[in-house]
Amino acid sequence: MSVYIPLASKYRPQKFADVIGQDIAIRIITHGMQRNRLGAALLFSGTHGVGKTTIARILAKAFRCEEYDRSDPEPCCRCASCSGFANDNQTDVVETDAASNTSVDDVREIIESCQYRPISGRYRIFIIDEVHMLSKSAFNALLKTLEEPPSHVKFLLATTETHKIPETILSRVLRFDLKKVDLGLVTQYLSSICNREHVSASAEALSLIAGAGDGSIRDSLSILDQAINMSGGSELTVQNVRDMLGVSDDTDIIDLMRLIFNGNLKDSIAQYRSIIKSNISPHMVVRRLIDCVYVLTCFKTNVEPQENAISENALPKLHELCSAVSLPALSGVWQMLLKSVDELKLCDNPEVVLEMILVRISYASGLPDLHEIIGAALKPAEKPAAPVSDNATSSDSLFEDARKMFPSATAC
Ligand SMILES: [Zn+2]
Repeated sequence: MSVYIPLASKYRPQKFADVIGQDIAIRIITHGMQRNRLGAALLFSGTHGVGKTTIARILAKAFRCEEYDRSDPEPCCRCASCSGFANDNQTDVVETDAASNTSVDDVREIIESCQYRPISGRYRIFIIDEVHMLSKSAFNALLKTLEEPPSHVKFLLATTETHKIPETILSRVLRFDLKKVDLGLVTQYLSSICNREHVSASAEALSLIAGAGDGSIRDSLSILDQAINMSGGSELTVQNVRDMLGVSDDTDIIDLMRLIFNGNLKDSIAQYRSIIKSNISPHMVVRRLIDCVYVLTCFKTNVEPQENAISENALPKLHELCSAVSLPALSGVWQMLLKSVDELKLCDNPEVVLEMILVRISYASGLPDLHEIIGAALKPAEKPAAPVSDNATSSDSLFEDARKMFPSATAC
């Protein structure tokens, strides 16, 4: 009986070319290796699951590959050294988690072992994960070695919190800030994995998984694993995935949409916080809001929405909201939500960033629509028009109509 290997382990990238969505970092690394200009210490930063330790391990493998060729720095994945990585048997590669080895003594142990040349190959490699967890004295102890490392040593550091690393350390390492992977790219990748696994999956289902994975290939593959198990080997449908992720009922997101369209800042934030309490990521909230606006726009324009964009049980509530919103308002919110997808990728704290985005969208939604203002201003007065005095101009009467329509505006 074959041993089950989780998808995230089975498809863990083994070469630079296998890494998804970190093209710039990979280009800098491979070009740097070709020109022998990569330095002795590199730092990979980014949120969890973006590929920090994966890239560090591939780099370690390339540095130690017996078939290493500067013109093509990919590890060969065949030699004894590369095979040692596959079997977790590499005496010259020391991997430490700074979260549980924070003290100066732990770092001294690393520094002392730096003196020894590798048993085989060109380099001894030290991979330190969560390096920001080192104590101040541990960082100080590491500083001198980072300044003048032995020529046979490479340090590959990884962190989720760069701001906690002292400037003195940051200025001595080559930094790579890895970004969350684009959701379109994750969806494409999941589709290729499904093909290799002979699993049939709809594009909407995979897109939903990518959204829940929040730009992390590892998390997305873990969710895909669960979804395949849940579907029992049959086709992976969007409804399976919705049920698994706990988003089969969209009434919560429609309530949030309604509060946003009402311009109700305080209640919008309260509703958003209540949604993310159920482990739904801010990216998923935006994705569901985008789906919501899409279906509302379809209703407004009498176009049949694509299947399953919103759960069946929530459709009556969405129809009710549809009558209260205008097409220009939907278009405006759509634009702002799409823009927020990129903004969320740029920050380490998406929960807070989305609150600010929701404040902006709610505020803009609460403003009177420009077309309505102009339309109201141009609308002829219902009562018989007063005789226009010789001094009055047509623009005066327009302003007067606008003042009647929007008395609060005249207070400004
Ligand atoms: Zn090799």
